[in-house]
Amino acid sequence: MVIAPSRSEKHWFHDRDVKAKERAKALESLAAVEPVTKDGVRISIYANLELPSDAEAAAAVNADGVGLFRTEFLVVGKTSVPEEEEQYEAFRDVIETLAPRPVTIRTFDLGGDKFPMFLPPIAEENPFLGWRGLRIYEMMPELFHNQVRAILRAAAHGPVRLLVPMVNTVEEITGLRQVVEEARAELQAEGVEQGDVMVGAMLETPAAITITEMLARHVDFFSLGTNDLIQYMLAVDRGNAQLARFFDLYHPALLRYIGDAVKAAGRAGRPICVCGEAASDPLGALLLIGLGIRSLSCAPAGVLAQKQLIRSIDLGRLERLMAELLTVETGQEIRSRMLAALRDTVDLSGVE
Ligand code: PEP
Ligand code: MG
Repeated sequence: MVIAPSRSEKHWFHDRDVKAKERAKALESLAAVEPVTKDGVRISIYANLELPSDAEAAAAVNADGVGLFRTEFLVVGKTSVPEEEEQYEAFRDVIETLAPRPVTIRTFDLGGDKFPMFLPPIAEENPFLGWRGLRIYEMMPELFHNQVRAILRAAAHGPVRLLVPMVNTVEEITGLRQVVEEARAELQAEGVEQGDVMVGAMLETPAAITITEMLARHVDFFSLGTNDLIQYMLAVDRGNAQLARFFDLYHPALLRYIGDAVKAAGRAGRPICVCGEAASDPLGALLLIGLGIRSLSCAPAGVLAQKQLIRSIDLGRLERLMAELLTVETGQEIRSRMLAALRDTVDLSGVE
């Protein structure tokens, strides 16, 4: 945010705005075409939703569905726990807007920097390593239980995937499955309509990504959260702008772990979609696709640009390049070699 911008700053922003609008206009026709690589491989591009109203934008760009529907909008800034009915209605509206495309609803990812007023006050030295994500459900089991009920009920209106954040262990998934079964039995006993859901885990901690193969026995799908994975893997606060240069998707450790997780999920026949910011970044998306990722999820406003990108790549060539880069020792070199190798065929004009 720029307070009282100078004349030249105003010009700069105006210019940027005009260019962004021109670019969006030029991309509009891509809504009707498929994101297929030059060598004929279909990549899925889903949308990330922050609010139910984003569903319209996702439908307008013809996203393949929703790869991540964050549900924190239901609680942030609220003084009381959200009712099951309110949640059900919000989910149902999104599902109906996008059906028959699948909608991935992520259960509350609270803690860290999102502490709604109704949570018990907790003093923590390191909130991002504290009561965050699925750990909070232990503290407030009703909050989780009601959300699962709302998701099961909404699933009667279209295909739904239930996703849990911050998974670290297999026990967490078995516990989750138990809550789903209890909620399912309750709804059935009450005669309330419900639908089937796929159950999935976020891969966003080093522990989870290392045991992808084990988790795959217990979940139906994975969602790779690069925002947190980079933060926890490299021990770099994702929100600290001064540390931005250390927050490096191209770090050789990430390439290895992501590549191995993709293979492990593939062997188990479990789909894996990337829903972190890296999926919206042109070079980041190429790195992920080169490592075997076939589904990306990004903000609705970024879907068409990613479609265009995918239609300009030769997947075989990209995979060969990534295989070579797996032995390179620095993130900086990996990134510059990618840029040098791809610039001639792929439009990377916005990438420095
Ligand atoms: C992530 O960590 O990459 C992610 C998608 O989840 P969030 O940004 O909501 O933590
Ligand atoms: Mg996350």
